[in-house]
Amino acid sequence: MIEKQTKSIFINGVWSEIDPEAKVAIYNPATMEKITEVAYGGKKETEKAIEAAKEAFKSWSRKTGRERSRVLYKAAHLLEEDAERIGRILTTEQGKPLAEAIGEVKGAAAFLLWYAEEASRAYGEWLPSSIPSKRMIVMPQAIGVVGAITPWNFPASMITRKVAPALAAGCTVVLKPAPETPLSAIEILKIFEAAGIPKGVINLVTGNAEEIGEALLTNKDVRMITFTGSTIVGKYLMKESADQVKKVALELGGHAPFIAFEDADLEKAISNVLASKFRNNGQTCICTNRLYVHESILKPFTELLMKKIQNLKLGNGFEEDIDLGPLINEQALEKVESHVQDALDKGARLATGGKRWEGELSGNFFEPTLLTGVEDQMKIMFEETFGPVIPIQSFTDEDEVIQKANDTDYGLAAFIFTENTSRSLRVAEQLEYGMIGVNDVFPATPEAPFGGIKQSGIGKEGGYYGMEDFMEKKFVSIGMDQE
Ligand code: ADP
Repeated sequence: MIEKQTKSIFINGVWSEIDPEAKVAIYNPATMEKITEVAYGGKKETEKAIEAAKEAFKSWSRKTGRERSRVLYKAAHLLEEDAERIGRILTTEQGKPLAEAIGEVKGAAAFLLWYAEEASRAYGEWLPSSIPSKRMIVMPQAIGVVGAITPWNFPASMITRKVAPALAAGCTVVLKPAPETPLSAIEILKIFEAAGIPKGVINLVTGNAEEIGEALLTNKDVRMITFTGSTIVGKYLMKESADQVKKVALELGGHAPFIAFEDADLEKAISNVLASKFRNNGQTCICTNRLYVHESILKPFTELLMKKIQNLKLGNGFEEDIDLGPLINEQALEKVESHVQDALDKGARLATGGKRWEGELSGNFFEPTLLTGVEDQMKIMFEETFGPVIPIQSFTDEDEVIQKANDTDYGLAAFIFTENTSRSLRVAEQLEYGMIGVNDVFPATPEAPFGGIKQSGIGKEGGYYGMEDFMEKKFVSIGMDQE
């Protein structure tokens, strides 16, 4: 279904042919069939891409916001129109159900649209001077060449969330997509090309993560690294960026608590647990990792949740009515298995699921799983699982559950379900997370700031905050004759 890939590296407006000596296969995680091959680029290609981005920065950064916005508008519309076709490619390389994949591509287009609008709104400031003979201006300016490194779990939207604000601000970009999912990235670059983006403004290098990463980190012309991925790689990028004091924006792991209070609407809370945990098969940094349910509703909550989980359908993302696709790879399966095993070894009980799926497909499937009787010392309660497993634990009072929810190095997203407004505000104020969903598990939207605190990251994607991250604030102090 997917045409054989012949090109995957885009530098200075030119797609280069794949070198037969440096290519790598891409697999469909639902079937384990080889889809195609892409170029295995490295240092040489990355340096060329940085050079092109540096040259393009001279004119792109000096265009008006309106001029940049025209390209972004066009790209947004082209991507939206092509969402179904690109969604199919995304499902093939990533595995998620087709409806989710198409939704993701449309979401990716929405970020382009939002930043097409924002491009004209990079306001500076006029500071009232305390010295009569001075005038003071704060001038926002594009930071320079940006290295963008993206993950496989949202291979389309993670790109536009970074690239759209960077381009809107006037930066130029070298993009490195995840090795598992380069095909969505290639399609998005083709969209930019069709939208008429000037050469060198956005460049794509697929290939060796370490080499590309090192080339981005050691090159002084790269002024910022924006990254979404694991905390361990994020910390490495941050440490290495220190050498040249590069700016970093990091969206890292999470361990979201979902708290259902005794006054929660039971049905609503349960359908949101399912949506939060099983969208993209639990491979989402903001998805629920721990479920805390008030002791007074634990029994009906657990029973209903278990029934609903048992009705979920696994399969190839292209089949109708599929709820869960495969996990991305064998390592992901092993991690999920180890979290379940560790919990069972330490006394948890399996309410449903708990093992690899014995379906007809040879991909990386794991049954949606519910664990009861979990204790805080089980790995699943403090390590990110990134898979379809829910550990459920009861709590007695508000203070206790806030303390448990905050007892982690992560601080990305937390969810509270309650019909009591005062409680929702009181608890939201005390939770140490970058995003709090009150009766809402999908806080990611183009107009709002997405990002974590503590070890979940630095910086915000979305809203006007997202563009600010890609701009320096230059201060211009003007001495003035008093005549
Ligand atoms: P995951 O374990 O979920 O794949 P990673 O943090 O390893 O998460 O991957 C996220 C992105 O970071 C991917 O594009 C990956 O190739 C990239 N990456 C991994 N290691 C490095 C590295 N040393 N330098 C630069 N990028 C890296």
